[in-house]
Amino acid sequence: MKTYILATRNRDKIKEYKDKLSCTIQLKTMDDFPNLPDVVEDGSSLRENAYKKAREIHQYTGLPTIADDTGLEVDALNGAPGIYSSRFAGDTASYQDNVIKLLNNLKEIPSEQRSARFRTIIAFVDDTEEWDVDGVVDGLILNEQKGTGGFGYDPVFYYKPLQKTFSELDIKEKNEISHRGKAITALINTLKKKNHI
Ligand code: IMP
Repeated sequence: MKTYILATRNRDKIKEYKDKLSCTIQLKTMDDFPNLPDVVEDGSSLRENAYKKAREIHQYTGLPTIADDTGLEVDALNGAPGIYSSRFAGDTASYQDNVIKLLNNLKEIPSEQRSARFRTIIAFVDDTEEWDVDGVVDGLILNEQKGTGGFGYDPVFYYKPLQKTFSELDIKEKNEISHRGKAITALINTLKKKNHI
């Protein structure tokens, strides 16, 4: 099996990638290279940030590199938090801090106007190629948290077809329908098409 590196130290993301990819490729992460520097995510779009992470980590490791950037786009907030999803409530914000700020900002917004989507861009970079794929899922932001699984904004992201929040799904159920799950499927399909796997 060919070895790839996923340009993240986020354990929650790593679990979701490994669940879908471990039968197909050998996946290392930045945790396997403790001396790698963190990549500053200062791009002006999810795509820019994903390519920045993928290029820098490929340059350091020489391995074919997969990097993703994800944003939650809330219509009533004109697409915020978007690229600022991880630091919505400040540079050192926890997942909970961000969720609480989101719920506060949407306090006055009725449920039918609380539409939102998660968007993931995955960039792939190796010695000869650079390309990207994406995945999107639509949902609604609840006015309270439900469920214990997942991470980030999952406890308030309600997925209508299953009548559950992402926190009420197990990892396999989430990966079937989520932004990241769809993007990983597109990644696998493109790797196959290009005869990488
Ligand atoms: P990142 O920049 O791709 O790490 O993601 C930015 C932020 O979006 C994270 O800190 C989480 O708060 C949130 N996020 C990313 N992916 C998910 C997800 O699958 N569910 C819920 N929140 C997520």
